[in-house]
Amino acid sequence: MIFALVTACVSMDVGAATLAEMSPEERTLLVSQMNASVKAVGDKGFFYYEDPLPVTALVSLDIDNNVVVIDLDERIGPRAERSETEDFLDTIRFSILEHYDRIEGMMGIRFLFGGKPSTHWFPEPAQDEPDDDPLVQPTQRATAPVVAISPGHGLYYHHGFKDWRPHRETVNGVLEDDITPVMAGQLASALQRDGVTVHNLRPEGNVLSHRPSGQPWWRLGARYQLEEKLPDHPEIWHAFQGADHALRERDEDLRSRPLYANFLGADAFLHVHTNAHDTSRPRGAQAVIQERAPDRKLAVNILCSMRELIHSKDEFSTYPIPSKPMPLVGRGENKHAKMPSVIVEVGFHTNPEDALLLRNSEFQGLAMRGVAKGYRLFREGKPCEDFSVKPVLQAFGRVGYDVHLPVELTGNPAFPIHVTSRALNCSGRYCHSRSASLFSQADVEKHRVQYLCTRDDVGKPLAEISVEARDADGVVAKPTVYKVACGR
Ligand SMILES: [Zn+2]
Repeated sequence: MIFALVTACVSMDVGAATLAEMSPEERTLLVSQMNASVKAVGDKGFFYYEDPLPVTALVSLDIDNNVVVIDLDERIGPRAERSETEDFLDTIRFSILEHYDRIEGMMGIRFLFGGKPSTHWFPEPAQDEPDDDPLVQPTQRATAPVVAISPGHGLYYHHGFKDWRPHRETVNGVLEDDITPVMAGQLASALQRDGVTVHNLRPEGNVLSHRPSGQPWWRLGARYQLEEKLPDHPEIWHAFQGADHALRERDEDLRSRPLYANFLGADAFLHVHTNAHDTSRPRGAQAVIQERAPDRKLAVNILCSMRELIHSKDEFSTYPIPSKPMPLVGRGENKHAKMPSVIVEVGFHTNPEDALLLRNSEFQGLAMRGVAKGYRLFREGKPCEDFSVKPVLQAFGRVGYDVHLPVELTGNPAFPIHVTSRALNCSGRYCHSRSASLFSQADVEKHRVQYLCTRDDVGKPLAEISVEARDADGVVAKPTVYKVACGR
């Protein structure tokens, strides 16, 4: 994804309100401020390789639906489905970010092209979006769930420059096109450990040379890999048949991904990207969705699990991860997918701190295991909750006998779980510190923390035992202290 920021010269001095709640004067002011921002973007031009002209953009409000409407030049209509248009719309969107943040409960931005929606320019085939339920529900079958992974971007042939080039540029030592297959490989392994059948559109292990570009296959866009794999299905990798614009193969690359996921009948579709902004300021992860309920649920679980895993390491504990996904209507990779589909923006390669983390294999591993865990919770219908050891009520222990205390855990830890109990405020030879590895929920239920009351404990304050747990992903549970009253 790409962002751009245009600083607005004026800001509204009213509190957040829905469009309907605003006075006509407030709405007029809002529209004129947003128009100034989008005009500044549109006037820059150079959004298309073959068309450097400025683009006009006019803002209006759909008050009933609490939506901002932006009408672009009619000449963009035939290009509404192109990747250059996606980048351009991102730039427009983020130029008015601070204005629409002031609209309470805003339901999004609707883009029109010459006053008409993109469906006017690109009608949806009837079978593409059945009215009743357009989304494949997460599998309930006994067989392994199928997940398609799309590592963002990759080399494509540019018909204007007549060369092979990446979609993005190297910033802070990160080339998004090349780093996404690396992270996606880690995601694939994590999903496979959970019993998922994975289809990776750009497998990082393919080091053979792709003749036309002279580059290893793993660097190539999905379009070329699919052309090789499915020569009889050009409708997947050559969707822009008949197009003659310079970036047509890049557009086909983007489009081939959801079409292939649909072809597979995948249960979920996970895209791995890194983010960009035209300043170095923005940081952190994001999850981008087409606004559909299952997609939102999957994205919320992914963000929550990414936070749990990334923050489990002190070094990464302040990494910004929002709790809510970002709905962007019309992003082709999500829009054309018939299953829950989430674009995971792992971090901003335009921010030096994020860029350093994006290149750190430990960080990559935690982030990707977080994404896999988010999918596991989504599939199992479990909420994302904190991993912790539940405290027990005060127990009684007879001198000379072991007390056996059950351990109850909350959250969704990955097995095996390592549980350690340690007697606090204790000295001498009766100190108890024990560890156990638990490989299943049944092991957790059987496990007991032991404490042996001695004569020395009698008449003293309660004996305290600290109980700690750490799961296979390295997530450490909030520890708790068990208390035992010793007597005869
Ligand atoms: Zn990207």
